[in-house]
Amino acid sequence: MSRPLIGTSWKMNLTPSEAVRWFDAARPLLEPLAATRDLFVLPPFPAIFVARDALAGSAIGYGGQDVHPDDAGAHTGDVSAPMLADLGCRYAEIGHSERRRDHAETDEVAGAKIAAALRWGLTPILCVGERIRGPVGPARRVVEGQLLGSLSAVEPGDLDRVVVAYEPVWAIGEGATAANPDHVAAIHRSIDQWLGDRGAMVRRVLYGGSVDESSAADLLALPAVGGLFVGRAALDPRRFAAIAATPIASHRRDDLPNERSA
Ligand code: PEP
Repeated sequence: MSRPLIGTSWKMNLTPSEAVRWFDAARPLLEPLAATRDLFVLPPFPAIFVARDALAGSAIGYGGQDVHPDDAGAHTGDVSAPMLADLGCRYAEIGHSERRRDHAETDEVAGAKIAAALRWGLTPILCVGERIRGPVGPARRVVEGQLLGSLSAVEPGDLDRVVVAYEPVWAIGEGATAANPDHVAAIHRSIDQWLGDRGAMVRRVLYGGSVDESSAADLLALPAVGGLFVGRAALDPRRFAAIAATPIASHRRDDLPNERSA
């Protein structure tokens, strides 16, 4: 059995006090699951220290929802990779569509953030995805453009350390539903091939966008889907635990690294 990677970003939700309660409820539910899958939580920056304390001694990873390309300097309000690393973060989410929308982040900026994360031993989670719902062909072209724009400077060895999250923008958020498995399978195969063509040996590609208890099993069963990235459904720790407990399909081989040994 391979180890799927299943995580959540809380986006701009949950105060540090609420985060304490989330972890109190989640840790006992998630910890047994961490034997067979890699799990992570990306709280807002002010609650990362809560994750550090609440997850001490567990295999569950945590990280930031963004990272600045520079290690330090005059960048008011930003957070650097060494700061995240110092807090024990394992992950840095990069290029989420809401960052692209609200902060005009480009693929080039995402590339610089990926370089910063890699320099500091963090696993970058690069989010890609087309904005408009449509057929596979145009979606594939958008996604490959984003991969090219943000990953072309990454060495093949380092490419193994990058997680790609395919998140079609039209499938994200309130009122949306997850993309259908055929569409997800086609785009994931393209991403896997794109990474493989550039020498990546380890290719972890997550699906994100309205994942919930009803969609998780079909999505995780797709061979090129290496895991799930969950948004609003995970704000309830019991729902996140239910999604994280999705059965692992028997076709999966034991070819993914344990996050702690990656
Ligand atoms: C996301 O935006 O990364 C996400 C997965 O959100 P949601 O699950 O709420 O659609």
